[in-house]
Amino acid sequence: MATPLIVNVVELLRWPGTTKDVVLSVASDDLQFGESRITDAPVDIAVHLESLSNGVMVNGTTSATWAGECRRCLASMTERMTIDVSELYQQIPDGSEAYSIENDQINLLPMVRENLLLAIPLGPLCREDCPGFCPHCGQDLSESSCSCDNTVADPRWSALESLKGSLEDPTL
Ligand SMILES: [Zn+2]
Ligand SMILES: [Zn+2]
Repeated sequence: MATPLIVNVVELLRWPGTTKDVVLSVASDDLQFGESRITDAPVDIAVHLESLSNGVMVNGTTSATWAGECRRCLASMTERMTIDVSELYQQIPDGSEAYSIENDQINLLPMVRENLLLAIPLGPLCREDCPGFCPHCGQDLSESSCSCDNTVADPRWSALESLKGSLEDPTL
């Protein structure tokens, strides 16, 4: 089945320096994410193709919406993310980093899917200073405070927090 994510690049391959812009909005289902955190909001793609001597460079952005839970208070979150993509397509890929050009066509699908899946935050926060739950009584501290003495930070707890922090995608 033809998909709008397949772009004919026969003219780009003929003349290095040729460019082409592709702007698409496709159904999330078409990307076959296999990932429940990506919602069914449309996926937007805006890329600039440029023919180089060793392939076709694809630069631009793609957007999708993910849903998840705040890692501290478990509140539901839904966020639109827009990420930069920059990938090389080659007729004979000379490294594992490049995508292949087949039948004078490039398929944006695997490239967009892989980049978006990598960008879903592993430990999102509903807000930077979300207080989460009290480690002693379980009170949701964004709703009200509790009477526990939380002034002395438990070192095990802060180690866990910094570990979670280090798992976050630094680009977000
Ligand atoms: Zn939160
Ligand atoms: Zn408490």
